[in-house]
Amino acid sequence: MTPVTTFAGKTVALFGLGGSGLATALALKAGGAHVIACDDNPAKMTEAEAKGIETADLRKADWSRFSSFVLSPGVPLTHPEPHWSATLAKDAGVEIIGDIELFCRERAKIAPNAPLIAITGTNGKSTTTALIAHILREAGRDVQMGGNIGTAILSLEPPSDSRIHVIECSSFQIDLAPSLNPTIGVHLNLSPDHIDRHGTMELYAAIKERLVAKAGLAVIGVDDPMSRAIADACEARGVNVARVSVEPLSGKGVYADGETLVGVTGTDAAPIANLSGIGSLRGEHNAQNAAAAVAIALALNVSPEQIRSALLTFPGLPHRMEEVGRIGQTLFINDSKATNADSTEKALKSFDDIFWILGGKSKEGGIETLTSYFRKIRKAYLIGAASDQFAKTLGDAVPHVFSGTLDKAVEQAASDARALGGAAVVLLSPACASYDQFPNYEVRGNHFRDLVRALPGIEAKGA
Ligand code: ADP
Repeated sequence: MTPVTTFAGKTVALFGLGGSGLATALALKAGGAHVIACDDNPAKMTEAEAKGIETADLRKADWSRFSSFVLSPGVPLTHPEPHWSATLAKDAGVEIIGDIELFCRERAKIAPNAPLIAITGTNGKSTTTALIAHILREAGRDVQMGGNIGTAILSLEPPSDSRIHVIECSSFQIDLAPSLNPTIGVHLNLSPDHIDRHGTMELYAAIKERLVAKAGLAVIGVDDPMSRAIADACEARGVNVARVSVEPLSGKGVYADGETLVGVTGTDAAPIANLSGIGSLRGEHNAQNAAAAVAIALALNVSPEQIRSALLTFPGLPHRMEEVGRIGQTLFINDSKATNADSTEKALKSFDDIFWILGGKSKEGGIETLTSYFRKIRKAYLIGAASDQFAKTLGDAVPHVFSGTLDKAVEQAASDARALGGAAVVLLSPACASYDQFPNYEVRGNHFRDLVRALPGIEAKGA
């Protein structure tokens, strides 16, 4: 844990005890603050009380007592409308901050030069965060990984000059961290997402830009126009920028030439690593993630040899084009995290001869944008609420069956792939939320993995 000593003796209000909230309350208390916590869910309040955290209904509190208000990033600060607690804090003139801000203030006090790598972007945050943490660990560095991925930042070991914190940041967390000044800030890409929580694309981009604006080195993906504009703006303000792209670059950065990652400094370009055959980093989107991780590793003086060997052993993250096993030449891929057509597109791009399991609770637009990949699909297996809608889009272009459940779909797809005989992929990439049949995408993906591992003749991966 990182006790937050910068608030010792002060009274701090906190709302949101799910996820990182309780860890934050405990870190504040351990550092000597008087914390008063609240949640809309009474069970969360009881849980916090059992851990020694004082709770109260902040609607009835005297806000003049509070020096700061810590808001959980899951709770709306501004859009679609401010949560009542944010309104009360604003009306009382109490600053509203999050756990990353508390960490930054602690770092400024106890170890201002402690290496902090902060990663954001619309997509690829978790993969890039896990990959850079893996490379640094393999290179023998002392690494703490957390933030939006897994462990709450204040549950990690405290910052120190010899320890590298690798932190995934959502835009909500950046919004609550005004003094975020990472050693290396990483912004991967921008596409419309969470606009309901940020108002406009411009506001969303401005929040992402804040993560790199005060970084010692800003590693910025420049494959979309708004991110390119962020890189240009940072450079114009004198920020040290390294660009990342899947197109050739001039200047400073790392780009992917197919599966080869090339480092560029001024006029010199040198291949650093090759992603070919690395199952956990398939696809152009992962080339962008890997290029960003390589740019960070090079900046931290990890040698190209160490980078190459670490890439080869990256296990990947579950539910993101995760290889769960094979039977002969048939691969089984769990891409349950693909809850919309954009994410599923990455998987369809990466494979051929696909037996595609899809469906669930459909998002706006369905799978209309995926028609150009239909030629790669041998057959589709429809599950869940979106089945009728998706069957219409697949039409005569793709043979399909109404499997209904994931269990049935896996059985049918495995049998059809076996009958084909050659190389094939059984792919769960639903392009849908899971809520109609599963509590979340993790449960759906775990169930797929269990079903695949029970198939006769399966060679399971990572079992
Ligand atoms: P995040 O943490 O930002 O949600 P993940 O690393 O968990 O990102 O990847 C989630 C999904 O986003 C992947 O399954 C893939 O479909 C897509 N994705 C990953 N990296 C990228 C990228 N660099 N660009 C576009 N899409 C990506």
